[in-house]
Amino acid sequence: MRRYDRARARLIETLREKGIANERVLAAIAAIPRHEFVDDAFRPKAYDDVALPIGLKQTISQPFTVAYQTVLLDVQPGERILEVGTGSGYQAAVLAELGARVFSIERHGPLLTRTDALLQKLGYRVRTRLGDGTEGWPGLAPFDGIIVTAGGLDVPEALREQLRLPTEGKPDARLIIPVGDRTGQRMLRITRTGATTYEQETFAEFRFVPLVSG
Ligand code: SAH
Repeated sequence: MRRYDRARARLIETLREKGIANERVLAAIAAIPRHEFVDDAFRPKAYDDVALPIGLKQTISQPFTVAYQTVLLDVQPGERILEVGTGSGYQAAVLAELGARVFSIERHGPLLTRTDALLQKLGYRVRTRLGDGTEGWPGLAPFDGIIVTAGGLDVPEALREQLRLPTEGKPDARLIIPVGDRTGQRMLRITRTGATTYEQETFAEFRFVPLVSG
């Protein structure tokens, strides 16, 4: 797969130029064959910093967006991370590459079947489930981090509640979620600081495919 090495190295440089400075995140992206996550027809563009179609009107997120959300999540090795919106599996692979235990929910069955096979082929251990991710994954909660890769109008209560309570010696659990209408969503980081308390920070604006409940 050497033919993509150059393009991948260029993508890392582009991400640096756009302000991504977290070396662990850049190394994870540098290690992942993004061309495997897109259809053959899009392979020539696999290392451009753009979102690409993956079928069923869904997209693999732009690498900058993946990097941005992953930096905000600040994954530590061994952490339990829930992703909502498995899609192509690329973001899940980034999390796995960073040493997280990854759980991911997708609402489109055919997409998930294809993605499960790909992640297995590439050796990424990701536990996936077909369903509505706005409900989280109650049986496996709590999580050290939750990342939502589709945009909705508000923050699903179940996701907040499935963040782990503050624990001595560990970073507080956090939820990274884009919130807004279809024209654009603000990236939020919601950190659980107590049984009923959360802190919210607001970051840049993005445009995701819709987070669909039910
Ligand atoms: N993380 C993905 C991004 C895929 S786009 C990647 O790296 O490729 C977002 C995905 O979220 C789509 O596949 C869409 O079907 C899914 N999605 C939207 N709403 C959802 C919901 N409520 N529960 C689970 N998945 C959802």
